[in-house]
Amino acid sequence: MTNNPWEQALAELEKAAAHAKVPRSLVERLRKPDRVIEVSVPVMMDDGRREEFHGYRVQHNNVRGPYKGGLRFHPKVNMDEVKALSFWMTIKNAIVDVPFGGGKGGITVDPKGLSEAELERLTRGFTRKLAPYIGPEQDVPAPDVNTNAKIMGWIRDEYEREVKSQKVKGLPAGRQGKSDMPKGWFDAVVTGKPMERGGSQGRAEATGLGGFYVLSEIMRQTGRAHRGASVAIQGFGNVGSHLAQSLKDAGFSIVALSDSKGGIYISKGIPDLKAVTECKEGSGRLAGCYCVGSVCDLSNVEVLGGRDITSEEALTLPADIVVPAALENAITKENAADIQAGIVLEMANGPTTREADEILGKKGILVIPDVLANSGGVAVSYYEWHQNMRGETWKREEVLRKLKEKMQSATRAVYATSKEHNVSLRDAAYIVALERLAESTSI
Ligand code: NAD
Repeated sequence: MTNNPWEQALAELEKAAAHAKVPRSLVERLRKPDRVIEVSVPVMMDDGRREEFHGYRVQHNNVRGPYKGGLRFHPKVNMDEVKALSFWMTIKNAIVDVPFGGGKGGITVDPKGLSEAELERLTRGFTRKLAPYIGPEQDVPAPDVNTNAKIMGWIRDEYEREVKSQKVKGLPAGRQGKSDMPKGWFDAVVTGKPMERGGSQGRAEATGLGGFYVLSEIMRQTGRAHRGASVAIQGFGNVGSHLAQSLKDAGFSIVALSDSKGGIYISKGIPDLKAVTECKEGSGRLAGCYCVGSVCDLSNVEVLGGRDITSEEALTLPADIVVPAALENAITKENAADIQAGIVLEMANGPTTREADEILGKKGILVIPDVLANSGGVAVSYYEWHQNMRGETWKREEVLRKLKEKMQSATRAVYATSKEHNVSLRDAAYIVALERLAESTSI
């Protein structure tokens, strides 16, 4: 078996299609993206050299609404990865029931090796290449690995500039080259923007917080105790850090955190997540961040019984719940048998290979699938887009209340389907999505 994410996505599709009452023509359509865009982006580097970067946008399916999905900047970005991620967005948006289709994009680049000015020129150049294909009613990008609110703000501004300079074809009638479009329409070309550039309250924490709501609902449905349950998290970026904070606030014990350079394990629970974050920001890495109050350093190792771990070790430590929140293929046939937790909460996209999924199933480990667990981000992206399009600004409490209701309702639908068909939560999530996609399509 292969760890190619696109082949994995197709296998998941076929498995669920065997249970779902949907026409074969829908499955055939989902096996191929609607459109694949590959661009070369020339960038003037700070030292005067010109470098070419390779960018992608895959528009997988739009039967439920405009294509929607993040942009990833990472050295390993490639076409099969982006195709799989775009397919998962189609499935995810149907599960969380927002009126969007699926899309995804990225650039093959290590952004940590660029200056901020180079990163901005690369982002703006990529936006100019994508401008004819994206737009508020067409395709709406968002942040993903190594992209953030600032980068989304650059995309929003560059898109507006392109439209106003009459370079973008395919805009709705009468909008070509117009400078009188409402501000909100330009804001809606991308989500995950800074607040002052049309962003939404609650978007930064939405994916992590959404994962917490999903986990809580599954634990409630399956009669598992919440308080004091121990959690180990791989990946301490946007998703992992906000999830960790939400879990800690609710009384879970965070025993391990890791990032790409390693991590920390404290069996009694990490006492102060904010101090760990500050330590990571200061040193550029998690390893070594043992904290008591505001003091984070190695002198606390013995007091806390903590130790450094590798990036991968976070997944196989003794914990009730493990959370892959970094990249694909984190749980493979090589390490699946070593997982000790009772629950795997998939916050990353595609973190478990098919072979590993079977091993986890045989061990009786409950896997909460990515397409449900991490769908809180796109739920609030939808609220952001909706506010932009209507010129509204919602309060944080309102956004978070809607997010909670949405995640609970998606989780209940998936859980009920898993009981009805006697299948895993992953298969159930795909069945829910396929049946919703079938309702929206005339094929
Ligand atoms: P991010 O760039 O903010 O953080 C990624 C984290 O993963 C970093 O801490 C990095 O050091 C760590 N990492 C990378 N390689 C690692 C490795 N081999 N071992 C351990 N840690 C490693 O990205 P993010 O936005 O937090 O996204 C994380 C995952 O969640 C991705 O799979 C992404 O597709 C998915 N996701 C993100 C969102 C969102 O709203 N940002 C929404 C849905 C899904």
